[in-house]
Amino acid sequence: MALTETALIERYFRSCGAQRADVTLGIGDDAALLSVPAGSELVAATDTLVAGVHFPAGSPPASIGHRALAVNLSDLAAMGARPAWALLALTLPEAQENWVEEFAAGLAALLREHRVALVGGDTTRGPLTVTVQLLGLVPQGTALRRSGAAAGEALFVSGTPGDAAAGLALEQGRMQAPPEWRTYLRERFLWPSPRVALGEGLRGYASACIDVSDGLLGDAGKLAQASGVAAEISFAALPLSQALRGALDEERARMLALSGGDDYELCFAVPAARVAQLHADLPPQRWGYTQIGTLREGSGARVVRDGSVMQFSHSGYQHFP
Ligand code: ADP
Ligand code: MG
Repeated sequence: MALTETALIERYFRSCGAQRADVTLGIGDDAALLSVPAGSELVAATDTLVAGVHFPAGSPPASIGHRALAVNLSDLAAMGARPAWALLALTLPEAQENWVEEFAAGLAALLREHRVALVGGDTTRGPLTVTVQLLGLVPQGTALRRSGAAAGEALFVSGTPGDAAAGLALEQGRMQAPPEWRTYLRERFLWPSPRVALGEGLRGYASACIDVSDGLLGDAGKLAQASGVAAEISFAALPLSQALRGALDEERARMLALSGGDDYELCFAVPAARVAQLHADLPPQRWGYTQIGTLREGSGARVVRDGSVMQFSHSGYQHFP
């Protein structure tokens, strides 16, 4: 059943997110009014998901709602920010009510989990495209950036990269896996868990941070470039999930951990002198992060295996002594 735009907003989006006292005026006027506390900086990010480009066209609507917010939560996590308010620009081929209901339910669950209010948006007709703008707060001057890391510092990643890329390949029928690993990997693509609490926890420890959305090696390279150093990653140190090891041979699993996208994990640098305190305050087992390498003088990102730098090509990599 088709609904008018106004009815759709009223029914599914007006009370979609968390209620917050700092929303002076939410959905219903021409714009929202939000109060930024003194001593805080406003942190803003936006990301768009296009059907057939950023998710398979037939993905579960609730997963699309979840991911549209998750990708932005991940950007705020990388800044060490606490998310507060979101806007939703939704372009729909037709206002199919049950599709919108499921989409809104997926979005609402993640909004509430992170105490984010949905304060506005736009609804238009066209090819399925979802844009979320996310606003958050950070104590003045404490935001994490891609720049700031120095040679000699330790490089870490959260979670087990590569899982989401394997999940997408399974979803698209490009990869096969035993059923016991299939579900876990598909869920890592469909329902990513952005590391918001870790990002906030890293303020005061990390010298630089980036979220891993386009592949760990490339994103570590972006952090290194912004910081004016080189990233050296140990192939053997890459953390792999049991599911990824079960689905692929170890070589391919490690390659996917380096190159796969859609992880929404954090890659961050910590000065050597702060690592012991980081481990004491945010125990790695509990917080789920692993040291994968070291920052060096120079530029670029490289992967070291058995003491030599791996050379990558289209057909995989060649091992040079
Ligand atoms: P305008 O034409 O003034 O932009 P709209 O009719 O587009 O107003 O929107 C009415 C109200 O509903 C606004 O407060 C807007 O922010 C909100 N809104 C519109 N679409 C969405 C949506 N998909 N999710 C959340 N809020 C929305
Ligand atoms: Mg509008």
